[in-house]
Amino acid sequence: MSAVFDLLIIGSGPGGYVSAIRAAQLGLKVGVIERDRLGGVCLNWGCIPTKALLRSAEIYRNMRHAKDYGLKVEGLSFDREAVVSRSRGIADKLSGGVQFLMKKHKIRVIEGEARLVPGTQAPGVLVKAKSGAETAFSGKHVILATGARARTIPAAGLVAGPRVWTAKEAMTPPEWPQSLLIFGSGAIGIEFASFYAAFGVPVTVVEMLDRILPAEDAEISAFAKKRFEKEGMAFRLGARATGLKAGPNGVEAQIEVGGKSESLKASHAILAIGIAGNVEGLGLEALGVAMDRGQIAADAYGRTNVAGLYAIGDVTGAPWLAHKASHEGIICVEAIAGQKPHALDKARIPGCTYAHPQVASVGLTEAKAKELGRDLKIGRFPFHGNGKAIALGEPDGMVKTIFDANTGELLGAHMVGAEVTELIQGYAIAMTGELTERELMETVFPHPTLSEMMHEAVLDAYGRVLHV
Ligand SMILES: Cc1cc2nc3c(=O)[nH]c(=O)nc-3n(C[C@H](O)[C@H](O)[C@H](O)COP(=O)(O)OP(=O)(O)OC[C@H]3O[C@@H](n4cnc5c(N)ncnc54)[C@H](O)[C@@H]3O)c2cc1C
Repeated sequence: MSAVFDLLIIGSGPGGYVSAIRAAQLGLKVGVIERDRLGGVCLNWGCIPTKALLRSAEIYRNMRHAKDYGLKVEGLSFDREAVVSRSRGIADKLSGGVQFLMKKHKIRVIEGEARLVPGTQAPGVLVKAKSGAETAFSGKHVILATGARARTIPAAGLVAGPRVWTAKEAMTPPEWPQSLLIFGSGAIGIEFASFYAAFGVPVTVVEMLDRILPAEDAEISAFAKKRFEKEGMAFRLGARATGLKAGPNGVEAQIEVGGKSESLKASHAILAIGIAGNVEGLGLEALGVAMDRGQIAADAYGRTNVAGLYAIGDVTGAPWLAHKASHEGIICVEAIAGQKPHALDKARIPGCTYAHPQVASVGLTEAKAKELGRDLKIGRFPFHGNGKAIALGEPDGMVKTIFDANTGELLGAHMVGAEVTELIQGYAIAMTGELTERELMETVFPHPTLSEMMHEAVLDAYGRVLHV
């Protein structure tokens, strides 16, 4: 064995690198093994580069509406290579930032592809470098944070190819699409639809379920759909893809809607139909690691069924979010270090879609809360009742709150409109602190801010709304 660590972490995404930092803070000797770029999908191929692209789209959209703000812009155009290269530059910068953090915390970064082998206290780890040389490492504890990749459905032809892109190609397009079919209307599909539509590409989103953003509250989904249509996106809902063929000039998809077959054509397609965990080649079968529908089964502290082996982040399943991965990592490491961390409450993880308009939520949807038999008080507040939203030229949006009518517990909060991805955290804090309607009503919100709508949506649930 070449080196012995307290903790070895396989994967340096937001799950792996954040776990490493927390472990180093707790005095553990840590090694992180990465086969690609530090920062994982999130920093290199996910959260950050897409938000950089969407920022370019937002500025471009605002410039198209410059006249509404008393401004003149002549000869507006865009340089798509520069848009993409700005996004890549930001990803590079942040990946470099992780490298700095690893160094600062004296965390050893080991480059190569890792697999598990039987060990004593915990499984051993073999790392294959690019040269092909293999080195053995051992840790008292090993965390799998190997993440996930885009799901494909070969039986329906939904596989990547020259004109059929996963998120990675969609954010570094080899050529600019003339038109797009996007399969899947979750956050990733909608964000790419929003990006390309902003630059004038005709986009059709194909969704198997009967509404877009299916994880969101139905009222918010319906509201967002209308706004996205205004932005130039088209939707085919309740549509099952049965075939997708790519030729030299474009793609053609077969879909089934209401029992009828239809064909849709475009220059390119994007697959955003879900996520598959990176579980292959890790040696899991030989160790007898328990799986749950293709994901590694782990308890609330990341423990698998194998002594000394833990799993966190995307490889353990939904919600596939960077902040979920990081929190799971911190909890796992603190438990390893003998602390008594709180288990993660998955019902209180906020989810955001950074399209135009933005969508954000935390907690239960109205349908779910009803399904659980709760008596509800529901509040709503429209953006057009808020001075700051009007001043920003963003009067289109809504905030919805869902309370338990008997206890005043905030069960869920759902928003669509400008900057809601920044606002949602207020409600997440309220839920973590188990605040009731009373404390939320007594909280002073600064004026003029979009956050005042969060107050109003609480007041509305209790018949006290002020500005509508
Ligand atoms: C287009 C897109 C946009 C997204 N936007 C958001 C967003 O806005 N907000 C949000 O919260 N989430 C977003 N996500 C999801 C987010 O990126 C993931 O939830 C997050 O990256 C998961 O972190 P992780 O640490 O579990 O895994 P990852 O980030 O996937 O990192 C896993 C790492 O493990 C490495 N690895 C895998 N196997 C091995 C091995 N055998 N040996 C060595 N290294 C290995 C991989 O190379 C990778 O670097 C987005 C995802 C995509 C694709």
